Amino acid sequence: MDVLKFSGLERSLILQAMSETSFDLLVIGGGITGAGIALDAATRGMKTALVEMQDFAGGTSSRSTKLIHGGLRYLKQGEFKQVAEVGRERAIVYENGPHVTKSEWMLLPIYQGGTLGRWSTSFGLWLYDRLAGVKRSERRKMLTVEEVLEKEPLLNKTALLGGGYYVEYRTDDARLTLEVIKEAVTQGALAVNYTKVDSFIYSKGQITGVRVTDQLSRQEYFISAKKVVNAAGPWVDLIREKDGSRGGKTIQWTKGVHLVFDQRRFPLRQAIYFDTFDGRMVFAIPRDGKTYVGTTDTIFQGDPMRPRMEKEDRVYLLGAISGTFPGLYITEEDIESSWAGIRPLIAQAGKKPSEVSRRDEIWSSPSGLLTVAGGKLTGYRKMAELVVGRIPGEWRTCQTRNLPISGGKVGGSASFLQYVEETAKASGFSSEWANQIVRQYGSNAEVIFPLARELTGEEESLPTELLAILEYSIREEMAVTPADFFVRRTGALYFRRKWVEVWKQPVADYMAKRFDWSLEEKEKHVADLNQCLQETILAVGEVP
Ligand code: FAD
Repeated sequence: MDVLKFSGLERSLILQAMSETSFDLLVIGGGITGAGIALDAATRGMKTALVEMQDFAGGTSSRSTKLIHGGLRYLKQGEFKQVAEVGRERAIVYENGPHVTKSEWMLLPIYQGGTLGRWSTSFGLWLYDRLAGVKRSERRKMLTVEEVLEKEPLLNKTALLGGGYYVEYRTDDARLTLEVIKEAVTQGALAVNYTKVDSFIYSKGQITGVRVTDQLSRQEYFISAKKVVNAAGPWVDLIREKDGSRGGKTIQWTKGVHLVFDQRRFPLRQAIYFDTFDGRMVFAIPRDGKTYVGTTDTIFQGDPMRPRMEKEDRVYLLGAISGTFPGLYITEEDIESSWAGIRPLIAQAGKKPSEVSRRDEIWSSPSGLLTVAGGKLTGYRKMAELVVGRIPGEWRTCQTRNLPISGGKVGGSASFLQYVEETAKASGFSSEWANQIVRQYGSNAEVIFPLARELTGEEESLPTELLAILEYSIREEMAVTPADFFVRRTGALYFRRKWVEVWKQPVADYMAKRFDWSLEEKEKHVADLNQCLQETILAVGEVP
């Protein structure tokens, strides 16, 4: 197999190469689950391909709460083994990619009559620290009322009893997914976005490949593979239907919505996990000059392709905010952005959406199709190890435990800050921009800086800083539309909306030149981005 770059400009070459290769493994789905499986398989020596029908992370993996959880929720459900495993995995995810995952102290306010008691919280967090192997510097602290209010003065003071303080890890879900796929490609896998699996090819009842359609050119391809893994998240049952093997356990969809506010309107200092009026818990997290709050958890029956906020979701979250932050008087006018995601949970009869287990399972069909059901961002590496371990053949053992993901070659998490400082300084660019680039892209900043030098003065309508990351996302991260850039490559749709408004047209003009789009194609891409912008502030059924 020739070495092909992970470039948006080489998509059709990649698809051509895929159709001419016989793979050991083909993965359906470019969310975090499929990404992890492709990386694990490629590093064990399997010839691996991955196809994604939207953009990478276009499904649930760009629509989560963006936390690498330590598994506190499992403790509540008495699943101790799970807490220990999730705790170990969290440390590995962080170590292998400190540029996309960072520790974040989380405050659990305790109120009279709330779901959390002072002693049960103290004991629960203590137990959690031990089970999850939390490092000493990150072990829980219990706080007095004064200490809680010092950390977050916006909290409701009435009936406040104190708080628990523990560490969660915050990530950028879409970038985590991309970095894992990029590493899989570095390790020899081929991966392509906007390529949909339409049907399976069989020989003697066993799957031997798939028929796919390139969603951009509408061209059809056949890809041969000895084994196919269905990592299609909310769509896994639809894939099983194509295989005629949907039976037994199934997936239940629940929707989760997050709202985003500007820090000037919701100046949250401290990440908080708080009780809601109906006994659930919701996160409020400060990030990049914004505060985001979520999530809801309701049964979903619509089209999982573009889930959106509904009026009820907005009312619920605004109600939760006003209960815990009563002095803010936040209203729907203050919402700057939002996103909604669909959880692919394994159906459990008689349980409320928030009670359904978040565990994952592997289902095998008579045709040899392996389906990954359920799962979390946090456990992606371990899940991949289990799935790939079930693929017959003489392969290396799992290699991903100590393998940095793309951008993670920074000398380990302990050296990351020093790496940022030194690399930014050596770049010769303004320290603010250079620091931001190294923090976000890790060791791949060493590709972006030369690109910025190469492109200086080339394109007058875009500043070099923006041009460098745009060109990087095209050449090295397979961005092929303005929405790929503004939503999954930079997260700007949710956290830098004004920046999107200012730059959307020049970015579309530049991409039109790079991809040779007709005027009509360019306008279609801009219209799509405009629709994304609208959908983040309007609930379903509302018109601008
Ligand atoms: P997806 O990301 O949906 O990927 C599946 C992909 O398959 C999709 O991109 C889809 O386009 C593709 N696909 C489907 N059909 C086809 C086809 N025919 N051909 C080609 N491709 C196809 N987890 C955490 O660990 N921490 C959190 O903080 C957290 N918060 C969450 C909050 C919310 C609101 C939600 C909804 C989930 C949250 N999760 C969290 C769970 C986590 O986000 C998901 O479990 C995870 O992202 C699922 O990844 P996936 O790859 O299985 O699915």
